[in-house]
Amino acid sequence: MPVYEFECDCGEIIEELVRMDTKSIICSKCSKTARKIMSQCSFELKGGGWYSDGYSSSKK
Ligand SMILES: [Zn+2]
Repeated sequence: MPVYEFECDCGEIIEELVRMDTKSIICSKCSKTARKIMSQCSFELKGGGWYSDGYSSSKK
């Protein structure tokens, strides 16, 4: 199982071994919901680049 990082509103970063479909956990410090930090920067860049690329080329 992979380790995921979760970030809470209180600034706490929690590393947890969780299932892939776990989107949030409870912060151990403040008991609020900590959200999974998505390490999908490359995926987002790829999608955005593809979109703007196709858009601009079809415009010209
Ligand atoms: Zn917290």
